[in-house]
Amino acid sequence: MVERVMPEIDMELCTGCGDCVSACPQHAVSLEQGKPQLDEELCAYCGDCEDICPVGAIALPYEIILLPPDEEEGN
Ligand code: SF4
Ligand code: SF4
Repeated sequence: MVERVMPEIDMELCTGCGDCVSACPQHAVSLEQGKPQLDEELCAYCGDCEDICPVGAIALPYEIILLPPDEEEGN
């Protein structure tokens, strides 16, 4: 079974402002009873929700590093 990596939300910090809902380009976030819920089928792990959250409640557990073309495998 393949597990998808999802952004982590600290519900203690979250104020329920909804900024992450409107920021998500994949429409993967919704507010339910004032707290954000992520749809792992839709999330593209872009980090926009992490960037927009005013209280730092969202964190992506892994950092995506893009290598320049000459450092990619096979080049
Ligand atoms: S990481 Fe990107 S796609 Fe995933 S929930 Fe956040 S804003 Fe949406
Ligand atoms: S942007 Fe941050 S504080 Fe606002 S609802 Fe999303 S996780 Fe909660």
